[in-house]
Amino acid sequence: MKPELIRELKEMLSDDRVLDSLDERYSYSFDASFGTFLPDVAVFPVTTEEVVNVIKLANREKIPVTPRGGGTSLSGGPLPVAGGIALVMTRMNRLLEIDRDNLVAIVEPGVITAELQRRAEAEGLFYPPDPSSSNVSTIGGNLAENSGGPHGLKYGVTKHYVIGLEVVTPQGEIIRTGGMTVKNVTGYDLTPLIVGSEGTLGVITKAILRLIPKPRARKALMAVFNDLIDSGRAISGVLTNGILPAKMEILDNPSIRAVENYQPIGLPVEADAIILIEVDGHPAAVEDEINRAAEICRRYRAKEVRVAENERQREELWRARKLVSPAITQVKPTKISEDATVPRAKIPEMFERLRQIRDKYNIHLVVFGHAGDGNLHPNIIADIRDKDEMRRVEEAVGEIFKAAVELGGTLSGEHGIGTMKAPYMEMELGPVGLDMMRRIKQAWDPDNILNPYKIFPQPGQTRVVLSE
Ligand SMILES: Cc1cc2nc3c(=O)[nH]c(=O)nc-3n(C[C@H](O)[C@H](O)[C@H](O)COP(=O)(O)OP(=O)(O)OC[C@H]3O[C@@H](n4cnc5c(N)ncnc54)[C@H](O)[C@@H]3O)c2cc1C
Repeated sequence: MKPELIRELKEMLSDDRVLDSLDERYSYSFDASFGTFLPDVAVFPVTTEEVVNVIKLANREKIPVTPRGGGTSLSGGPLPVAGGIALVMTRMNRLLEIDRDNLVAIVEPGVITAELQRRAEAEGLFYPPDPSSSNVSTIGGNLAENSGGPHGLKYGVTKHYVIGLEVVTPQGEIIRTGGMTVKNVTGYDLTPLIVGSEGTLGVITKAILRLIPKPRARKALMAVFNDLIDSGRAISGVLTNGILPAKMEILDNPSIRAVENYQPIGLPVEADAIILIEVDGHPAAVEDEINRAAEICRRYRAKEVRVAENERQREELWRARKLVSPAITQVKPTKISEDATVPRAKIPEMFERLRQIRDKYNIHLVVFGHAGDGNLHPNIIADIRDKDEMRRVEEAVGEIFKAAVELGGTLSGEHGIGTMKAPYMEMELGPVGLDMMRRIKQAWDPDNILNPYKIFPQPGQTRVVLSE
């Protein structure tokens, strides 16, 4: 990028909010997936007007701009693949208002997700979207990825809580979508188009988020199964018997063993699967539902059911799930975390397909995730320095996506497409479906300024590149 443009950016913002030295730029060259791409400059706007000015300069000079939040994406979204400007939104981080009367929060995009959750709870309210990265990811990143978490089963994902946005378009205009009302059917609904657009259609500069009353009580149980298929049946059994848990997570045997090897907490290492179920709501209903969920698990041959009797025990049960990610990275240094999602009734079949893929490619595959909504997390543990292993991993990843789509599912339940899954988009959407999406991108961003090389495969791109 020309030095005079860097100077112009420094005049536009301030010297300390425009970083152009190599070491500083390196900090904005990666995310939690694969690949390193240096931006020419990293800029830190603090107002919407500054975002507008940066985007207008980029349009004038035809320079790519890649929006960035906490940089925790698992799919390559904030990677500045074409260089240019890394637009780091973390300093627009004011939580502007929690409006109790209207049950909404108004936030800037750099607010950390857990901070919003805490502030809402302090007011007796609840912001349910709960990605595991909530202590470090931003609301802007969550909206752009349409992130989800265990609460997705009962409460839905990020998009279900966004009712209004302020957005800077790829050409540097400010638009407002939706508003403060829960109902709004005026024209095309642009809010859900921006949510999940991975920074390719606009820069989110403000969001109006729906809050709900905080549930009064919650209870959890752990059910242990000797056979994964039985656990799949128990999951369906709970859901078809009138119980909608707040969370319902599954851990397979390799996940259980990894946790016990890492931090022994008394999990049954011989079990084929564990299900964790949490119900929330009115205290009387919670008591009734947890007992019925326990009974259903026993009916489907759970060999043990542990119901947490108090808050401390509830937290202990959830420790098993929280420890899986750190535990599996002890096995080998490289973790490829996928989020292929299938219709819930297909979970047992998906587990079977994953076992076949594991054996065929001789890979270390661990499966856990959001059983209630079919959003599994097949995680492959490998060593990026081992070229032969990474080639097998690469092929296995392709087959995992294929299996999910063949079972009526999707490439991604929550991590997004970015660079990592772009080569597989046509497999799920078909050529016409993909082309309609491309046309939306072209209409919004004719010069392809905003976050280029994301979502859409490049000509000839047939595989995800994990190791080069
Ligand atoms: C340990 C770990 C656990 C995770 N667990 C989960 C999980 O449970 N569920 C889940 O869904 N994801 C999870 N993720 C993935 C990741 O945390 C989410 O995708 C998260 O929403 C990204 O937020 P971020 O602030 O880090 O955004 P970034 O990674 O910086 O960016 C993500 C995308 O958002 C765009 N973007 C960022 N800010 C803006 C903005 N203001 N306007 C427009 N576009 C913008 C970027 O261009 C990029 O495409 C996990 C990641 C890690 C490392």
